[in-house]
Amino acid sequence: MVQPAAWDTDPEPLPVDSAPVPEYGTGSLADLLPTLAAGLGVPGATAGITELTPADRNCVFLIDGLGWEQLRAHPADAPFMTSLLGSSRGGTGRPITAGYPATTATSLASVGTGLPPGAHGLPGYTVRNPDTGELMNQLRWQPWTTPGAWQPYPTVFDLAHRAGVHAAQVSSPTFANTPLTKVALSGGTFHGRLSGEDRMDLAAEQLAGADRALVYTYYAEVDGAGHRFGVDSDTWRGQLAHVDRLVQRLAEQLPPRSALYVTADHGMIDVPFDEDHRIDFDEDWELKAGVALLGGEGRARHVYAVPGAHNDVLTCWREVLGEQFWVASRDEAIEAGWFGPRIDDRVYDRIGDVIAAARDDVLLIASEREPKESSMVGNHGSMTPAEQLVPLLEVRS
Ligand SMILES: [Zn+2]
Repeated sequence: MVQPAAWDTDPEPLPVDSAPVPEYGTGSLADLLPTLAAGLGVPGATAGITELTPADRNCVFLIDGLGWEQLRAHPADAPFMTSLLGSSRGGTGRPITAGYPATTATSLASVGTGLPPGAHGLPGYTVRNPDTGELMNQLRWQPWTTPGAWQPYPTVFDLAHRAGVHAAQVSSPTFANTPLTKVALSGGTFHGRLSGEDRMDLAAEQLAGADRALVYTYYAEVDGAGHRFGVDSDTWRGQLAHVDRLVQRLAEQLPPRSALYVTADHGMIDVPFDEDHRIDFDEDWELKAGVALLGGEGRARHVYAVPGAHNDVLTCWREVLGEQFWVASRDEAIEAGWFGPRIDDRVYDRIGDVIAAARDDVLLIASEREPKESSMVGNHGSMTPAEQLVPLLEVRS
């Protein structure tokens, strides 16, 4: 075998097909609500997660940012949820995959519509709006885009409501009328409550008030603590302990014939603050060459090239990022199934010409364009188990 020359020791780019693709169809967030709806007899709903036993009253509690690996690593801070894990005390808890990218707007849309990102069309934190050529932030819905045109499918709550199932969402009042709630979580009635305790109590009431129910509730602050202080920080562990008590509070109030499912929209990974781990797009002329727009987030980038430059950008990003990121062209990522088994026509051009998904504990920050996001300790977005695996815990009454 010929030894490579000394100047030829750059690591080979990661093969696109080495990325662990989400388990769309059988074990992803998008499969949860359709499975529950199918169990309730809602027409058109398919049970993708076949091991779940149908229940008349179903509640999904989504904990923002609580990945499977982080939960498993902190049993003392989360004794109740730990008791629901598969490996201990006979619980049935298991991991499912969030979907790509592992980010809140994308995952909430997957949960609510029961569709993978390639179909619901929120395939990133920020993506290009093909009609305007501008980046659109999917979480804050800026700049404004007509929600029903951006995501035209009914939610699973809509379908359940039409089928006579009581559908309700119990979350922060802040989210009552947001476009993201409209496209991802509408159908039935929205109930705003400020405190986690009130949300748990109201979710239990909503379940008890109907023979057949599909209820959703949500808690945000585990994610916030992770972004600001890191996974495993005192603040993060305090939030974990708090949400563990919330889960128990809801579990103890479940009316008969209920199933409570605790899950999350994504996990999280801490990224060290040095130049080896935080590559700055705004300071890197090689990465910037030929790029018209930088979308996504630090661990899940959509790169939109100037016309005619996408092949050059792809080659350059592969060389610069080496083995630290999976770098794919749009068609390679689609073919590998990163965004799901199908891509709607209206979604195709929202996806970057080049996609870069972090494999290591690294970030591709943009210190000038995104000063706030670039300074976060905990991050998420990519396909590593720490980000991609989320719990699916079950409590039955
Ligand atoms: Zn987050």
